[in-house]
Amino acid sequence: MPNLPALLNQIQEIDFSLFLESLKPALASSICFILTARSVTNYKIHRDFETKEICKVEIPPELKPKYFKVELKEINSKKLKEATLEFASVLESTFPKSSLTNFYNNINELKIKKNPFLFWDADGAYNDLTNEITILFSSALYHELFHMASTIKNTGLVGFHQYFSKKENIGIGLNEGYTDLLTERYFGEKHKIKGVYIYESKIAHNVEMILGKEKMEELYLKADLNRFIEEMKLFAKEEDILEFLVNLDYICVASNVHLITKDSLIAKKILEIQEFLLKTYQTKMKQQFENQMVNQEMYEKQTEEFLNLLKTNNKVGGVKYSIAQDYTIEKDFAIKR
Ligand SMILES: [Zn+2]
Repeated sequence: MPNLPALLNQIQEIDFSLFLESLKPALASSICFILTARSVTNYKIHRDFETKEICKVEIPPELKPKYFKVELKEINSKKLKEATLEFASVLESTFPKSSLTNFYNNINELKIKKNPFLFWDADGAYNDLTNEITILFSSALYHELFHMASTIKNTGLVGFHQYFSKKENIGIGLNEGYTDLLTERYFGEKHKIKGVYIYESKIAHNVEMILGKEKMEELYLKADLNRFIEEMKLFAKEEDILEFLVNLDYICVASNVHLITKDSLIAKKILEIQEFLLKTYQTKMKQQFENQMVNQEMYEKQTEEFLNLLKTNNKVGGVKYSIAQDYTIEKDFAIKR
């Protein structure tokens, strides 16, 4: 058995400032060391201990997990409990637990109301401040449940949509599109659900083909628009990514809130979105090809799938915009009505 007081004396002799000095390069590259207050006060390691070098990661309260599972007692007391339980079971068996923090935090305290009088022509709505779903038709529930599962309550962060103020409102188009895509992917066939954000959903699918399904689903459920932009920056400039998001927002709001707008303006935005996606996709595939992550055959097959999707469903606000057929991957798209 070592002599504890002697050991503590020895520890006191160690110059920890030198030790910390040697760690400086690592600290500079943002590695954080967490030393608890107890280990410092109980043993009085060094009187001149430089606490400035220690950084502790504080998790904001809204990101701290409150629940770690679905509480059956809570769900069974809700309206439309069968559908809610089905949704919960699909999410738990599909996504990693690490992506479900928002889902667990919200589902147990979720309120569901059926109301035939929604104030605009929506089939359903999710209020992220009160954690409440109001629906007109039961089929709208799954879309709203995805909003619930991807919301950091009381923050203005809902999936890919961020709204802190009128001026800091971005991502609604991508968010609604991706919400519809996931709703159709996981519940569409069984419940014959067709989304309403048809164009936005198609575009979100194209974006998913760039980032990959697992990453895109994770970023959505974590409501991490910042990381979405960081990931996209591997293949595109930040200002182009933001412009793409804003263009899709414009189309989403203009077509779904019946904003009076010129068809030519919508056509211009569709064209800009396609150019951005095509360029970004090409950059990604070029990188993968150069790093030998795809071979010629895979490259051609994936590119064809990407282009076929990009060509379809260009219907916005009841108007169909078609793309000239004579393009190749290097050429820009031409849009005509
Ligand atoms: Zn929605």
